[in-house]
Amino acid sequence: MADPLTHPPSVDRVLTSEAGRELVAQFGRHNVTQALRERLDTLRKNLNNLPTMESLLTDLNATLEQQASFSLKRVFNLSGTILHTNLGRAILPESALARIADISGNASNLEYDLDHGRRGDRDIHIESLICQLTGAEAATVVNNNAAAVLLTLNTLAIGKEVPVSRGELVEIGGSFRIPEIMERSDCSLVEIGATNRTHLKDYRRAIGPNTALLLKVHTSNYEIRGFTNEVSETEIANLAHDHGLPFVTDLGSGSLVDLSKYGLPKEPTVSNAIENGADVVTFSGDKLLGGPQSGLIVGKKSFIDLIKDNPMKRALRVDKMTIAALFEVLRLYQDPDKIHETLPTLRHLTRPVEDIRMQAEALLQPTAFIFDSIADIRIEDTESQIGSGSLPLERLPSKSLSIRPRSNSDSLLRELSDAFRQLPMPVVGRIHDGALLFDLRTLDDTPAFLAQLEQLTLPGSTS
Ligand SMILES: *Cc1c(COP(=O)(O)O)cnc(C)c1O
Repeated sequence: MADPLTHPPSVDRVLTSEAGRELVAQFGRHNVTQALRERLDTLRKNLNNLPTMESLLTDLNATLEQQASFSLKRVFNLSGTILHTNLGRAILPESALARIADISGNASNLEYDLDHGRRGDRDIHIESLICQLTGAEAATVVNNNAAAVLLTLNTLAIGKEVPVSRGELVEIGGSFRIPEIMERSDCSLVEIGATNRTHLKDYRRAIGPNTALLLKVHTSNYEIRGFTNEVSETEIANLAHDHGLPFVTDLGSGSLVDLSKYGLPKEPTVSNAIENGADVVTFSGDKLLGGPQSGLIVGKKSFIDLIKDNPMKRALRVDKMTIAALFEVLRLYQDPDKIHETLPTLRHLTRPVEDIRMQAEALLQPTAFIFDSIADIRIEDTESQIGSGSLPLERLPSKSLSIRPRSNSDSLLRELSDAFRQLPMPVVGRIHDGALLFDLRTLDDTPAFLAQLEQLTLPGSTS
């Protein structure tokens, strides 16, 4: 085993060796044979430099492990952004995970009416709960809020005009832009007002024989300040209704509870929008609501019925896993006094800073020695943001572990941050003002965080 091979071994010889048999047991004969053939092909091209049998097998094991690994993995989101779109947004509560397992691991009555033994409707499992929590008459659920807006416009405004304030032509990360979504929904955008000011008379002037509805888009990821004016939902609703038109609101984040109850900044709730006269409201399931990726469409039954009947609904519908998870998340809202404990998103949002500080104190010592010679580790005041376009300017006071390289070197800082991202359970922080910050507001599993730190490959170390 210890001497370099004199010629490439046969596939059979490797597979029947003890180590070979172990690989087959772990990864399957097909995978091992294929990886081995590829490796042997390479070896045949460089016969003067053959490895030992041992290193051949080690390589093979590494290749197979790499092939079998899943690139989507659990990470620690210590970025300071609670609902981080790139890090998966809302975290689901245990009850939702259990419900997903039960429903997805078995056959279910997803679209089957058990009372009558015939085809049923998948919305039925969550519709009444959504209505109860929002005050809406009817509801349906699709893949995400972008799909909710697309489907609503494609149903209620196809081939017609939709006036939208120039101050609300938002782009939400990636490729969701209101003007483009409207184009794909087959309706024409009529821009009204100016970026900073739109008046009721602008809406009134825009209404013509071809107007389908009035739309208000919640400017969720920015705020226009200074000399501004926007028209209230009630005023737009009244104007729409005077002309026999529906009023549609894209709330974006759409909270189900008044967050100011928990000392958080006020975000318009879905019930508010309905009370203010919206006929249809769309919002995300995985932003402030704290559930699975989904888009909720709620409002007047006559409009929701039309939306459900649009053939595009089929293309945008949600899976049973989403329905199962959404139900359990919504159920927590039936006990709003406990929601800040039971729902991870709201627990993170409402976590007292004193609690975060105590966690930081407990982490300081076990982490400090790791960086002994290269960096100072301290507890620093920081500010978390909500993320996903919710309350873009609001910050929540928090505490972070800050790792500040002694040499004040940007490259060292980047290497440190890379090293944390290479851990088995990658840690994502943020670099700010010469330090790597880990906002602890969203750190739930402290033991798991600490347990892998000894595997950190620090800059300059050889192991
Ligand atoms: C986030 C957002 C969307 C898109 O929602 P997704 O659930 O990410 O598809 C649409 N409109 C507004 C106003 C938003 O804030």
